[in-house]
Amino acid sequence: MNILLLGAGGREHALAWKMKQSPLCQQLFIAPGNGGTGNIGTNVPIGVNDFAAIEKFVAANHIDLIVVGPEDPLVNGVYDYFTAKGVAVIGPSKEAAQLEGSKAFSKKFMQRQQIPTAAYAEFTADNFEDGKAYLAQHSLPIVLKADGLAAGKGVVICSTHEEAQQVFAEMILHKQFGDASSRVVVEQFLSGIEISVFVLTDGKDYKIIGHAKDYKRIGEGDTGLNTGGMGCVSPVPFADDVFMQKVIDRIIEPTINGFAKEDLVYKGFVFFGLINVEGEPYVIEYNCRMGDPETEVVMPRLQSDLVELFVQLNNGSLANASVKIDDRAAATVMAVSGGYPGDYAKGKTMQLPATLPADTMLFHAGTQLKDEGTLVTSGGRVITATSLAPTIQQAAAQAKACIAQVQFEGMYFRNDIGYEFE
Ligand code: ATP
Repeated sequence: MNILLLGAGGREHALAWKMKQSPLCQQLFIAPGNGGTGNIGTNVPIGVNDFAAIEKFVAANHIDLIVVGPEDPLVNGVYDYFTAKGVAVIGPSKEAAQLEGSKAFSKKFMQRQQIPTAAYAEFTADNFEDGKAYLAQHSLPIVLKADGLAAGKGVVICSTHEEAQQVFAEMILHKQFGDASSRVVVEQFLSGIEISVFVLTDGKDYKIIGHAKDYKRIGEGDTGLNTGGMGCVSPVPFADDVFMQKVIDRIIEPTINGFAKEDLVYKGFVFFGLINVEGEPYVIEYNCRMGDPETEVVMPRLQSDLVELFVQLNNGSLANASVKIDDRAAATVMAVSGGYPGDYAKGKTMQLPATLPADTMLFHAGTQLKDEGTLVTSGGRVITATSLAPTIQQAAAQAKACIAQVQFEGMYFRNDIGYEFE
């Protein structure tokens, strides 16, 4: 079949790499893609939210399946737009994508389905004074979340009541995150270690395809500013059978059953952002797509044919699918532009290692291949090296040795990915 993958990051490079291994994948196009995806399939210069241009491309190139990388087109209704035209899409419907697109929507869903999550209340300009009173008596720290998409920046954890009142006013009255913060979710703080679990579902059946822990902070030892993700490991040692069974019984199954009960059409990836509070899993967030850099460790460990899983998802036979996951550990280490997550320069010439060690791959994120064949940086997160090895430490050491051979001016990466799993 001919497949169009939407997106341009390391996640999309890893998805393209995985799909291209399938005998079911004939032509693979990536819109818009990056300097790495162009070596696997054909990059197409179309934006992920330009549905009219995508539609023309889909018709001209006999696309059978659209796989969606990032959340924006899903929240904008890419599933509904193309399934109405008879093209299969891997993703949730616009309505179900609200699980990621609106924190208030996802909290209400979890409440209805009795899924463990932090206690919360929601406020708008209409009940702003009630919100101030609620904050004044809330235990510390207080988590404030802009309801809508805010590119990972809409969550503020406040350690004093004064800060919470100030952030609350900024979000609602001064629209700090535009319309995304005209509604604010105020949440109880949960203390624990985060883990992400990934599932493919057709809205009725599901398969777990992996789990991972990412490293969000720019600095070693998890210090400094938040980023899109500096590295990732899989599996997560505390996610043993007992913990995962709790995740299945209390979170995954009630969620998938909830889709069916509430007629939420969902044919794609569910990213369960969880926190382990003294052995008990709670949902921090749902995302309606794979994570980045989580995909860069989940795909290399997934031994099953991803395109075949998509076919099974679409023809109602997902329950019979067998999912095999590599016993080995995977680690990925992200190289970023100097200055990121603040201001950084683009267009730096890159050199990649001539050969890669065994069981190691490079996934491009913010890279671009210029016409004359030069590879240059084009984003904050530039390229990531993933290795598979018997232990997390070995995988991380191998990935680090590989990324250290990539060169571009100002390059930075964390040396300590997986540090706590000695
Ligand atoms: P991202 O785009 O980074 O996934 P987001 O903007 O969708 O984030 P959340 O995932 O809900 O927002 O929150 C971002 C981060 O804030 C979480 O990964 C977690 O570290 C922290 N966080 C969120 N809610 C809580 C909570 N109730 N208790 C403790 N920490 C929290």
